[in-house]
Amino acid sequence: MPGNELQATQLDIPNKATRAIFDKLGGPIKNDIYDPSLINLQNGEALVRVFYSGVCHTDLHAMIGDWPAPNKVQTGGGPLVGGHEGAGVVVKLGPGADEFLKVGDKVGIKWIADACLNCDYCRRGHEPNCAQAKCSGYTHDGSFQQYAVSWARYLTPLPNELPLDEAAPILCAGVTVYRALKEAKLTPGQYVAIPGAGGGLGHLAVQYANVIGCRVIAIDTGSAKKELATKLGAETFIDFKTSKDLIGDVRKASGGEGVHAAVVAASGAAAYEMALEYCRPCGKLVAVGLPAKTNIEANVCFTVFQAKQVKGSYVGNRQDAIEALDLAARGKVKTVFKTMGLSQLNDVYKAMHDGTLAGRVVLDCNK
Ligand SMILES: [Zn+2]
Ligand SMILES: [Zn+2]
Repeated sequence: MPGNELQATQLDIPNKATRAIFDKLGGPIKNDIYDPSLINLQNGEALVRVFYSGVCHTDLHAMIGDWPAPNKVQTGGGPLVGGHEGAGVVVKLGPGADEFLKVGDKVGIKWIADACLNCDYCRRGHEPNCAQAKCSGYTHDGSFQQYAVSWARYLTPLPNELPLDEAAPILCAGVTVYRALKEAKLTPGQYVAIPGAGGGLGHLAVQYANVIGCRVIAIDTGSAKKELATKLGAETFIDFKTSKDLIGDVRKASGGEGVHAAVVAASGAAAYEMALEYCRPCGKLVAVGLPAKTNIEANVCFTVFQAKQVKGSYVGNRQDAIEALDLAARGKVKTVFKTMGLSQLNDVYKAMHDGTLAGRVVLDCNK
């Protein structure tokens, strides 16, 4: 169902469905058949028929298990279904869940699957930092399956006019960069550098930055990524592999001073190395991309004298998701993706590991 038409039969719950699981770190991913009609929903839970799910770099990290926080496989919770960019339709509601949704609603599954909504962090809109936050495709089974259980109060209502496959990548990649740009507090006409601009996060960051009215300096490598970033509105493209002086090139492209902010969307450690240096005084480095075991180093005197800021930005809250989706629904931001089948997830991870993906991969969960 890429469009808006929903047939009544699509709400029926079959007794056979497919999910992509792994039960040991490093994979491989296996296709597993299960019976969604037997799922007994608990308080506040909803059963979502997932039509499409984007694939995020985090999913690959989850399978490898190279992050400091343990996932469901690492804590002995059994096989894990990855995925946290799921777009689908509510087919069944558990007790109390009808307060938030009704059967037939189009919804999105995000990285944060639920939060307490009542702690200091939640009350201030920092739901991802809630100590009780649950993570889709990490601590709990995610969206790489045809029928997923999630928490009704935390599912995101999807705009009707946005096709489900286009909505999927907004649910993590889109929300994440949208929030990061908000954290950068950029104003129209300011320069922003986006390392990783041709990737899943980056290609959306280029567009959201354009919505704000920023001048975008895209940093990535290869002609496919150059073409993509430029087409989406980057003013300058710098290839970090062929540039002999990346800091100099960024400064030159930003009026000689350096950028007002660098939103690091790349997941490689190298992208962080020079980012603080090519920010102008009072500039901000907003860390978004997640390389394993990497530190950001900053000279203290340089940081003080130049009043620079380093800021982490971790996905977004429910409101950020609604805003990021609204911009996509109104055509201000377009997700660039290639559709593959749920059964091809191993191939997707390989391409992701090799760094050869431009834009996002969206899995069609019926294939
Ligand atoms: Zn993600
Ligand atoms: Zn909380």
